[in-house]
Amino acid sequence: MAAAIALGERGRGLTAPNPYVGCVIVQDGRAVGEGWTRPGGRPHAEAMALAAAGAAARGATVYVTLEPCAHVSARGPACATLLVDACPARVVIGVGDPDPRTNGLGIERLETAGIEVITGVLAHEAEHSMAGFFTRLRLGRPRVTLKLAMSIDGRIALASGESKWITGEEAREDVHLERARADMILVGRGTWETDRPRLDVRLPGLEHASPRKALLTTGGPVEGFVRLSSPQAIRTLSDVNDLLVEGGAETASAFLAADLVDRLLIYRAPILIGEGKPGVGAIGLEGLADAHGRWALTGTRQLGSDTLQVYERQRDVHGHYHG
Ligand code: ZN
Repeated sequence: MAAAIALGERGRGLTAPNPYVGCVIVQDGRAVGEGWTRPGGRPHAEAMALAAAGAAARGATVYVTLEPCAHVSARGPACATLLVDACPARVVIGVGDPDPRTNGLGIERLETAGIEVITGVLAHEAEHSMAGFFTRLRLGRPRVTLKLAMSIDGRIALASGESKWITGEEAREDVHLERARADMILVGRGTWETDRPRLDVRLPGLEHASPRKALLTTGGPVEGFVRLSSPQAIRTLSDVNDLLVEGGAETASAFLAADLVDRLLIYRAPILIGEGKPGVGAIGLEGLADAHGRWALTGTRQLGSDTLQVYERQRDVHGHYHG
């Protein structure tokens, strides 16, 4: 299942609104087929893995990160049907599909056909790998990652406005990798007017993974950008699993004040700026008690001389927030 999750990750940022599923078919202790959801959402991971396995899928064990889909689409048959036709001995599923068109029906179809089904294997890891998809289905909006590049003392620019470059090259490359994993990238109008960032992916071999672009503005439209008038307007982005918010401070604050940030990426350079521009402005906090318990550090990495800290908003499986 861990291998299937790793395969699924290949599709992250390329398959929305479909989930990025991974699948491995094992026969006699050997992987005979591997698949992951292809760019654009088709073929599905199971279809790709079954095609690779061919006749070797008969009697095999299929590991798939998400419950196989049960609905017929104009773009292809349901994976549950493909699996029934391929006659594996068992299907091991990471996590159930909350999509109402499948939600249990995929498992039911497999079991009805006499295939053993085991569910909940590495469920937490599988769900976390497809967090954008689950956020969209459960909360009706994309999963929002906010990126901030700041100094030790939380500044993103000098008082003069100078902000290039706070962090080093390795941190900036990591941001490009995060862009490749997102379906859409958003900046505020001010950042767009001042910096004219290219907002594309400039990593060798990943140029094709540049996400669509959005602008937070109450002003008129800008060519090449989806226009959002408020953070709440992300609910209209029905085909986006993962949204990366890159700034600036006003945009960051607006998303935090609306409690619409699920994941924080803090790229911290080992420099002190002192008087300067804070990375986050007013976020509507009334007391420290409200601030505690909201965020948990889930990862730390050293990137050259900079440090990346990843924080995740704490909430239960129903999407209800702690704190
Ligand atoms: Zn499918």
